[in-house]
Amino acid sequence: MNFIQTRTNDATKPQSVTFSQAILSPIASFGGLYVPEKLPELGMDFLNKHLDSSYKTLASDMLSRFEIDIDKDVIEEALTLYDKFDDAANPVPVIKVKENLYVSELYHGPTRAFKDMALQPFGVVLSSIAQKNNQNYLILAATSGDTGPAALETFKNRANVRVACLYPDGGTSDVQRLQMVTEDAKNLKVIGINGVFDDAQNALKRLLASEDFNAALKEKNVSLSAANSVNFGRIVFQIIYHIHSYLELVRQSAITMGEKVYLNVPSGNFGNALGGYYAWKMGLPVEKIIISSNENNVLTKLIKTGKYDLRNLAVVSTTSPAMDILKSSNVERVLYDLFGSLRTKELMEDLEYKHAYELTPEELSTLRESFDADFCTGDEGKKYIKETFENHSYLMDPHTATCFKAYETCSNPAIKTIVYSTAEWTKFSPVIANALTGEVDAQDIVALESISKTAKLAIPAMVKELFTKEIAQGTIIEKEDIEKEILKFL
Ligand SMILES: *Cc1c(COP(=O)(O)O)cnc(C)c1O
Repeated sequence: MNFIQTRTNDATKPQSVTFSQAILSPIASFGGLYVPEKLPELGMDFLNKHLDSSYKTLASDMLSRFEIDIDKDVIEEALTLYDKFDDAANPVPVIKVKENLYVSELYHGPTRAFKDMALQPFGVVLSSIAQKNNQNYLILAATSGDTGPAALETFKNRANVRVACLYPDGGTSDVQRLQMVTEDAKNLKVIGINGVFDDAQNALKRLLASEDFNAALKEKNVSLSAANSVNFGRIVFQIIYHIHSYLELVRQSAITMGEKVYLNVPSGNFGNALGGYYAWKMGLPVEKIIISSNENNVLTKLIKTGKYDLRNLAVVSTTSPAMDILKSSNVERVLYDLFGSLRTKELMEDLEYKHAYELTPEELSTLRESFDADFCTGDEGKKYIKETFENHSYLMDPHTATCFKAYETCSNPAIKTIVYSTAEWTKFSPVIANALTGEVDAQDIVALESISKTAKLAIPAMVKELFTKEIAQGTIIEKEDIEKEILKFL
């Protein structure tokens, strides 16, 4: 299967590219994103066939239906990474929390957040294509906390790929920072910036556009790639767990095969939700996809009113920082799927030049056939964390908690819901400790131990050992010095 572009094609670019090409250079130079020419149709046969399959068998068969240009043994090797999750036999447990509400836990990988679901296998795939083409790649990442650790973990010591990861010093949780600065490998460089996340991200954008920097890379024979969720190589691995979670509900006799469910997704860049949307298009029985947000509620407004409006809007810091996003990249792929490339180009150019776009009433009603949405404030989220723990003995993180608001306001309670849990409690412990007991902890380690006692949960070994591990990456610089620092690393 080949990949085409969301914003038409001006004939100066190839009509379509292979999966490998879409992965290596995810940003087509006219500005759009790559999408599959046509999604494979799986149908009920596929679901019935995999009712008793392992996660890896399901994944392998689903990926084969995409007919991508990656060798079968590379895919198989990539999928073995799920063996390192807490339970190799079931990397994604689905837990019943209360009547009709189930939580699919996507955080049982090495960095305790859902980014591992896609980035773990993605690292193997990207490195293998780079080796095959005999090329060296640099992945530049700016992170507010979850993408950085997951990208470093997956590319650690992999051939032909180097990662430079920028984070705002003081702008991540202790656990997130330690996950990055304790990574010790020659092909990884972690750089703390005196500034906030936007400074790191803007510095990265300037760098990508800098002629001097690109010339210097060329001289060193290094090409740039990207590991964020505009890369379809991540999206393809995010379709699988939606199908798996559905089959889990059938296996648990919570639903019968064919029964429709809600997918309720805590959303930022919309990669997770897009994976669910594609799974639905490929044949998964879905009632609707519910998009949950925090106070940065552009997606709620889009789905309620048809207006995507960034004018006079600034990102606010919330208790669910991985969702503090205003430009949600993967919405573009849904627009393309629903309204075609000409209209997508028009809408995305409006967003770029006028900082806003508006769907027609017909378009809005089409969008609302697939999606509904609501947002949850930090205080409401803490209330859900406390209530759900006290009434149902289930502990969740602040991102997952945003889904409980939309569950109440957007879904028919008679229909089963799968809420996607994107982070373990260990990653955002001060907020959770505060929700449970009212305590205000400056440091993660204090909050972790408090929650561990209150909830009678052990702190996982990989989190605990972070606090005694040697710091391998001590670089903290001013944002003006980033280019120099990265070239030094190369
Ligand atoms: C990345 C992330 C999200 C948002 O996922 P998208 O695919 O970008 O919508 C939500 N929660 C956590 C904890 C994350 O790390």
